[in-house]
Amino acid sequence: MIENTRHKKIVKTMMSNTEITKRQEQLLEELDRCDDELSGQELHRQLINKGKSMGLTTVYRNLQILIKHGLIRSRHLPTGEVLYTPVDRDIHHLTCVQCGETSKMEGCPVKDIQTPKKNPEKFQLLFHTLEYFGLCQNCYQAQN
Ligand SMILES: [Zn+2]
Ligand SMILES: [Zn+2]
Repeated sequence: MIENTRHKKIVKTMMSNTEITKRQEQLLEELDRCDDELSGQELHRQLINKGKSMGLTTVYRNLQILIKHGLIRSRHLPTGEVLYTPVDRDIHHLTCVQCGETSKMEGCPVKDIQTPKKNPEKFQLLFHTLEYFGLCQNCYQAQN
């Protein structure tokens, strides 16, 4: 994983090179302000609360565009819910396969692993994903 400052710079450059619409900027701002991930519905609700209302379909369409630009990433929960977060955050989660409860993990176990040399030289790494799945305490206790 590239160090954070350099990484932030790459993301900034990408943003300035990318044509971002007002709506996409608003979505990015909301995601940046929140230190947790947000679902499309939550983003939709927050924008309405701030008087910047945007249709739910528009929210999802613009989120897809931001993903394509490499500015945000998404994570699918076993419940079918999709959560969005800016790419410059290195956060990993433990997710319960039964109830879908998801909690942040301390630290990053892979941040020091380099992309293997065999990979294309010009590949500019933006982010990585790593998720753990299992049973939360409640679901585990209910089974035993
Ligand atoms: Zn559970
Ligand atoms: Zn990580």
